[in-house]
Amino acid sequence: MTAVVINGREVALASRTRTTQRVQSFVDQHGRAPGLATILIGNDPASEVYIRNKRRSATDAGLIDVHHHLPADVTQNTVAQLIDDLNADPAVSGILLQLPLPDGLDQTELINRISPAKDVDGLTTLSQGRLARGVDGLWPCTPAGVIELLDATGVTIEGAHAVVVGRSELVGHPAAELLLRRNATVTIAHSRTRDLAAVTSTADILVVAAGIPALIGRDHVKPGAAVIDVGIHRTESGLIGDVRFDNVLDIAGWITPVPGGVGPMTIATLLSNTVVAAESSAR
Ligand code: NAD
Repeated sequence: MTAVVINGREVALASRTRTTQRVQSFVDQHGRAPGLATILIGNDPASEVYIRNKRRSATDAGLIDVHHHLPADVTQNTVAQLIDDLNADPAVSGILLQLPLPDGLDQTELINRISPAKDVDGLTTLSQGRLARGVDGLWPCTPAGVIELLDATGVTIEGAHAVVVGRSELVGHPAAELLLRRNATVTIAHSRTRDLAAVTSTADILVVAAGIPALIGRDHVKPGAAVIDVGIHRTESGLIGDVRFDNVLDIAGWITPVPGGVGPMTIATLLSNTVVAAESSAR
């Protein structure tokens, strides 16, 4: 068996096309486009690249780009005041605070300052609580993108055994919650899991977000499983994931490549979350 390689770029493009159409409908109805506010603090080169891509994609989709770049030594109060102003600004539908923040700033306090109605990254305690409670809200972009990729394969999530490797607030935990919402039977594996392969090899759906290069090989994978690799690592030979792609290719049923799998979905979901936030607040 050779796995079907899931084309994240294609799925993301389809999502972005739908978002662009929804932005146009919003403009037709309200006479203005939704705005996405991005806040970058300091000069971390990777963060600068991520923010540039997000802003460019937002503009391409027809969203208004509202960007704030603050120095690394900015005070907590100044950032908090900026977030308050953006919360109150009707032209801003979504607010994204690029992480990680420079040392000295309280990340949790600042994230939680973002109005849940504008929390397009889905990282506030309230958004995550809503997710845990099964109440509608804005979901974290990467895990929501994982679900969209699974849906694109036609794999039935309901009733499947889904194993998520990783329990971070950003990826693993919300991915598990989203799978649970879709009625999968969910197991979360993490750094203290005793026999990882014994757990993962029972998964019909395996989502890997451990941040350990090449952690998962064929011994970890049930024949025919859908394997979604969230990990991304820069090496001398290029980008690789948490899954040994070539090693797993002839045992999995579906697999995402790195690059070109989960990565493109993250920005696509950020854009769709911004439109959802705009539509909800205009109701
Ligand atoms: P994190 O370091 O916050 O969390 C890693 C999780 O993996 C932890 O819960 C830990 O318990 C678990 N873990 C660590 N070692 C393990 C092991 N040996 N066995 C089982 N579990 C183990 O990382 P994160 O922010 O969740 O990101 C995970 C990966 O996803 C990283 O490679 C990151 O770069 C990538 N990522 C990609 C995107 C994207 O858009 N493609 C977005 C976010 C994160």
